[in-house]
Amino acid sequence: MITGYRGRFAPSPTGPLHAGSLVAALASWLDARAHGGAWLVRIEDVDLPRCVPGAGEEILRQLAACGLVPDEAPAWQSRRTALYQQALDRLLAAGLAYPCACSRKDVEAALAAQGMARARNDELVYPGTCRGGLRGRPARAWRFQAPPGEVFWADRRLGPQSQDVAREVGDFVLRRADGLHAYQLAVVVDDANQGITHVVRGADLADNTARQILLQRALGLNTPSYLHTPLVLGANGEKLSKQNGAAPLALGDPLQALTQAGETLQLAAPADSVADWLHAAVHAWRARWGPT
Ligand code: GLU
Repeated sequence: MITGYRGRFAPSPTGPLHAGSLVAALASWLDARAHGGAWLVRIEDVDLPRCVPGAGEEILRQLAACGLVPDEAPAWQSRRTALYQQALDRLLAAGLAYPCACSRKDVEAALAAQGMARARNDELVYPGTCRGGLRGRPARAWRFQAPPGEVFWADRRLGPQSQDVAREVGDFVLRRADGLHAYQLAVVVDDANQGITHVVRGADLADNTARQILLQRALGLNTPSYLHTPLVLGANGEKLSKQNGAAPLALGDPLQALTQAGETLQLAAPADSVADWLHAAVHAWRARWGPT
């Protein structure tokens, strides 16, 4: 038993929960219960233009139908922007972040001039144009100054991981040109502010972890332990998402939905009711992921 254990599920309310997002929700809940810890839900509505009105409430209803009820009142990122700005101000004061005047076109032109058409997941690796100052241009966004070198971390399922953020990602955005704080900053501030000790989330997010660890270090925050769960794939072989046809989770048969999510997590928990299924699944989870 880890008595200080605090875990969370942090959905973006861009639509209702589907079979893929239920896997992350269930895994984070199971890990918290297996460790005798607290399980929190944080609605990540920081990227307001992508959010669907009412989706946060719908996700909470779907979770409750599956017996997944948070131990504290859910947090909403849209109500916490002052915390994100405070963290950004601290990074700016410490010289670890800087304002950036570059548009996407400017970044493309600078990369082309340097003969490096560097892109990763369609994102350009920022060449650091504004590191030395804005040279009279107005600030559009704010970036983190990524320190050179590999970031090493261990995932409980995927094993040892490393990423050279400065080289592979570049100085990433903390506050966007539309004024909104970026996911990377919000998630790091919230995980620390909510005392999260264990992050359990989908494997599609693993690639963000090194960036988040750099921000934790820059802000003097603890790094939680990480476990990235297997993804449910859609018919096109890509991660199941609204875009590739994931149906919203029907509230009519939560036991069936849980059984299916359990299969993705390789947990067999035969039972006749949601409560019995969850009880059996906690045992199966503990046998696999601890604590022993
Ligand atoms: N809000 C993010 C998403 O739904 C997840 C953030 C996280 O778990 O760190 O993709």
